[in-house]
Amino acid sequence: MKDRIFLSPPHMNGSEMEFINDAFRTNWIAPFGPNLSGFEKEMCEYVGIGHSVALASGTGAIHMGLKYLGVGRDDIVFCSDFTFSGSCNPVAYLGAKLVFIDSDYETFNMDPKALKKAFEKYEALGNLPKAVIVVDLYGNSANYDEILPICAQYGVPVLEDAAEALGTTYKGKKCGTFGKISALSFNGNKIITTSGGGMALSDDENAIRKIHFWANQAKENVNYYLHNELGYNYRMSNICAGIGRGQLQNIEERVALRKRNYEFYKEAFKDLPVTMAPVPEGCEPNYWLSVLTIDEGCKVTPDEIISALEADNIESRRAWNPMHNQPVFSDADYITCAEGVGVGDDLFARGVCMPSGTSMTEVDLQRVADAFITVFNK
Ligand SMILES: *Cc1c(COP(=O)(O)O)cnc(C)c1O
Repeated sequence: MKDRIFLSPPHMNGSEMEFINDAFRTNWIAPFGPNLSGFEKEMCEYVGIGHSVALASGTGAIHMGLKYLGVGRDDIVFCSDFTFSGSCNPVAYLGAKLVFIDSDYETFNMDPKALKKAFEKYEALGNLPKAVIVVDLYGNSANYDEILPICAQYGVPVLEDAAEALGTTYKGKKCGTFGKISALSFNGNKIITTSGGGMALSDDENAIRKIHFWANQAKENVNYYLHNELGYNYRMSNICAGIGRGQLQNIEERVALRKRNYEFYKEAFKDLPVTMAPVPEGCEPNYWLSVLTIDEGCKVTPDEIISALEADNIESRRAWNPMHNQPVFSDADYITCAEGVGVGDDLFARGVCMPSGTSMTEVDLQRVADAFITVFNK
């Protein structure tokens, strides 16, 4: 059997161990430590934002961000429909109600027209949302030039889910700076990993201070245990932060390698009835996952491609299954401007996520392409 090619495996660059060794040498194992403060500071500098707090997961960052924005029981929250469940699970944790907004083909992200339609509907109901969760999927930024003014017009804050978009730029600004609060993920499959972790970012110092407080069990600053508010145990460890510091050192190289993967597939498949995911106008993506769609009318299915790659020990995946299809969210509302099939549903039906790791060699990429092309030559 040939070596397995994974979808998006962790890729260590070697410097992570130095930060971990430092933590051991100085016994900063827990609860705080220089790697945590260093990682937070270095991330703020890279992204171009004022404040951040490292947490146990991206989902936790979204949870704490929504809590800061005042989301509570029976509130409405708008959220991108075509995404991973981590984007919207925290809305349910808080007892709030989800309204899923369909995507557009230009970005694969929230369709500004559907967002507008949702605002008009919920304004008429006298029930405006407390927050809008805008996702930057697969490393593509959302259309912020249109989305932010719509949200501002209704006075509703944006929580940016930039879990997949560290390193992406939109009109000269990094993803992770577009929300009142933004969330990053360092899960094992993301562009950098801490083995598991996340971060909340904001220019609002008070927001980050508050999230830091809640994420540390809401311990009041007195010399005994006093809790006026409900706390969470969501903090990242100083060891994990050390991995993150090492990973962040070559972020630009990581983006360049992910882009190389995308360009390779684009060239290799140029004569096939498939289309690479779009690069949105004004966006320089991080190309986290190379995603393509099988052209309409082509008989090949995503499952056939995934099986053919699997037969050569290569991992690939379907595109995200939109949230309005998930049984767990069957109570949620769903807003689309599509006449027939929703855009997210269509992308799910025709999309394939290709192996996109930064550790892939040219030989690996060619092996993937060869296995892929055979499906169309049958
Ligand atoms: C990975 C991911 C999350 C969740 O991040 P975790 O760190 O795994 O909790 C949220 N949203 C999106 C779009 C993601 O891809």
